[in-house]
Amino acid sequence: MVKCSICGSTIQELFLEKIKGTVLHKPGSKKQYPICFECQKKWLTKEELLQQLR
Ligand SMILES: [Zn+2]
Repeated sequence: MVKCSICGSTIQELFLEKIKGTVLHKPGSKKQYPICFECQKKWLTKEELLQQLR
């Protein structure tokens, strides 16, 4: 089960390991941050999304 790194809601997983949303990488980090479709709509750029992460 994948949870959104920003709002914490569950992201629906689709077949072929694709999730409904996107995955962010922090610069210099290999950690993945799944982002749900709703948060993607709220913050349109990667920079804005990254600012929502801790
Ligand atoms: Zn979200």
